[in-house]
Amino acid sequence: AVPLVVAITTSMAAKRGILIRNRQAFETLKSAGAICFDKTGTITEGKLAVHEVVAPESEAALLRYAVSIEQNSEHIIAKSIMAYAKSKGVEPQKAKNFTAYPGIGAKAIVEGHTVMVGGPQLLNKEALQLPETLRQYETSESTKVWVAVDGKVIGVILLTDTIRETSVEAIKALQSLGIETWMLTGDNEAVAKEVAKACGIDHYQADLLPDQKLNIIKQIHDEGKIVAMVGDGINDAPSLLTADIGIAIGAGTDIAIESADIILTKSDLMSVVHAIRLSRATYKKMV
Ligand code: ADP
Ligand code: MG
Repeated sequence: AVPLVVAITTSMAAKRGILIRNRQAFETLKSAGAICFDKTGTITEGKLAVHEVVAPESEAALLRYAVSIEQNSEHIIAKSIMAYAKSKGVEPQKAKNFTAYPGIGAKAIVEGHTVMVGGPQLLNKEALQLPETLRQYETSESTKVWVAVDGKVIGVILLTDTIRETSVEAIKALQSLGIETWMLTGDNEAVAKEVAKACGIDHYQADLLPDQKLNIIKQIHDEGKIVAMVGDGINDAPSLLTADIGIAIGAGTDIAIESADIILTKSDLMSVVHAIRLSRATYKKMV
């Protein structure tokens, strides 16, 4: 039987957009000592705007290759690039043998060429060398999507995102509840540093692959803290499962939602604060 106070909490939570899938995890939340957040679409809006396309040879060709891959991709970066290319009248072509690399990018055969798109980890993974004209963009404070054709980097798409106003408020509130805050991101160091500073988060790590995010969560847990992970995307599913409490935010992907103990229907990190307060209030009253 479900104690009455718990049943009441569940419906109060639902009214605030907090859906409890795992009641045990919701109880554990009252003792959370650290909360890790994904960046893109969690701390930030996840509505990335393309602000520059650097293509020494042809911008139209670069965008055509990029969208031919990204039309098959679930990542929010892919959706933004698709929208931008459409506004420029660029049409995706057929892509064969599409392969997604979670947290890195994707690859396919387009117009007979091997095309790859992705972030900082793609350059490492494929040991790609940047031509002289593109090297200066490696350290720019934008989210970057490199485009490579037959092993040669032909250009980069630069995107910017906005921090949700409520993220700053939520992180401050968590800190005042005595909870340590972390941002774990697959994006580059320059962007991570800027976002971390702007939202006032305690710690951040950049350039992370999904497995590395998971290892940091394990480390914090092994140091004796109960860890919650808040994420939105497909890359976050392993982290959501590993954390003591997995929290999926907003209109995340189905996979993220299936991997979560708690789902926040509003894309607002203040819901995390409400959930913790509610957990503390509920389980304090019970004997
Ligand atoms: P975050 O931790 O910021 O939410 P992700 O782990 O989802 O970021 O992705 C990490 C990085 O991988 C992105 O910043 C991007 O550079 C790159 N990336 C992943 N998937 C794609 C894709 N389909 N197209 C382009 N870049 C991608
Ligand atoms: Mg993400």
